[in-house]
Formats: sequence, structure tokens, C-alpha cells
Amino acid sequence: MLNIVLFGPPGAGKGTQSEKIIDQYKLVHLSTGDLFRKHLGEGTELGKLAQKYMDEGNLVPDEVVIGMVKDKIATTIDPQGFIFDGFPRTVAQAVALEDMLNDFDTSISGMIALDVPDEELKKRLLERGKTSGRVDDQDETKIDNRIQVYKNETLPVAEFYEKQGKYNKIHGVGAIEEIYLAIRRVMDGL
Ligand code: ADP
Repeated sequence: MLNIVLFGPPGAGKGTQSEKIIDQYKLVHLSTGDLFRKHLGEGTELGKLAQKYMDEGNLVPDEVVIGMVKDKIATTIDPQGFIFDGFPRTVAQAVALEDMLNDFDTSISGMIALDVPDEELKKRLLERGKTSGRVDDQDETKIDNRIQVYKNETLPVAEFYEKQGKYNKIHGVGAIEEIYLAIRRVMDGL
């Protein structure tokens, strides 16, 4: 299996690039943000629980996220691999993911980290907020909070994979196709 962690701050382009990757590599896209928004839309208990964290740009508690991911992995039939998007976002989640994949005799092949400066992130998120309908994209204070949460809680996840020799940084500003080409170069070497 080819299992990729697509990593980067909010607004880095993980969703956009994921779509291109899953098309070409036939991987299963596992986006925790998308899964939460699906629950939200369906009005499930999990969705209700997650909403207050999401609306403020805070992280949903680890045990909730981990349970949801476990469920998704366990119910995916015969995958060729996963692309994890927006997960793991804490070191505890990264450790839990290792255990989960271990149970299926597999592991993370590599992390691809999209590098984008804060100012560009803010610009992109505010722009997306005009059409995304996401309350967390429409308010500068919430956007700042998400970037701060990323730095405090999520950046250590990059170190976690770096120690395993699995960290690959990609410059995330420029044409979508150029960035995708850089991602492919990394992926084809994994
Ligand atoms: P973005 O990358 O644009 O911030 P996502 O769609 O990945 O957005 O996530 C939206 C929100 O969902 C996050 O701000 C957070 O509240 C919640 N969320 C998503 N993934 C996780 C995760 N792995 N751990 C905790 N919370 C998460």
C-alpha cells in the first residue's frame, strides 16, 4: 500500500492537490475536515460535538478524531492506499495512526508538506470564505487562530515524521499544476 500524509497549514492547498493525487494514484482520500463536515450536514451526534470546535478553528479532541478515522479505515474495502488530508494534526493522532496501520500490516510511506507563507494563507482562506460557506473561513480572528493552532499543535507532527526520514517539503505557492508535479516527483520516489 502507498499511504501518504498530505500536510500543511489551513489554506495550503491540501484538498486541491488531494483530488489530483487520488485520480492518478487510485488512493482513498481520507480528509477528517470533510468527514466532520459530512457529519455536520447530516446532523449526527458526532457532527454536533465537532461543530463548536470547528467554528472557532480549534481542534476537535483527539479521541473523537481517532475514532472516526479508525472507523473509516476499517470499513474501506481492499484499498490500494490512503491519502491522509488534515490528519494527523497532533502527535497523539500520529501515534494512533501508526498503531491503526500496523494492525493492517502497513505504514505511512511518506509525508508531503506544503509550505505556504502566513500572509498567502490568510488571503486564500478569506477568498475561499466568499464561496465556501464555511464560517471558519470568513473571520480573520478565526483564521489567525487556526494558523496559531497549526503552529502550536500540528507542526510537531512534521518533526515526528522527519525523525523517521519520511518528511518531504514542497513549495506550495505557484501554479497548481507545478505544485502537483513536485508532489508527483516525491511520490514516485517513495
Ligand atoms: P483547514 O485545513 O482548511 O483548516 P479542515 O477541513 O482540514 O480545514 O478542518 C476543518 C476543521 O475540522 C478544523 O479547524 C478542526 O476544527 C477540525 N478538524 C479537522 N481535522 C482534524 C484533526 N485531525 N484533529 C482535530 N480537529 C480536526
